[in-house]
Amino acid sequence: MIIFCEECGERYVIEAEELKGAAMIFICRNCNDIIRIPAQRPQQDREEEAPTEAKEA
Ligand SMILES: [Zn+2]
Repeated sequence: MIIFCEECGERYVIEAEELKGAAMIFICRNCNDIIRIPAQRPQQDREEEAPTEAKEA
């Protein structure tokens, strides 16, 4: 995956296997800004489960 520094636009190529889905923080070698890579979550479907409604008598 490719990460860009938000400050200076420096590009970094990160091996996805290296992250293993974990979050990562490193410092840009160009501007010393902190670059954060959020944890990669596996497919997470947010299906809102409808609560079982109380039966109306
Ligand atoms: Zn930078």
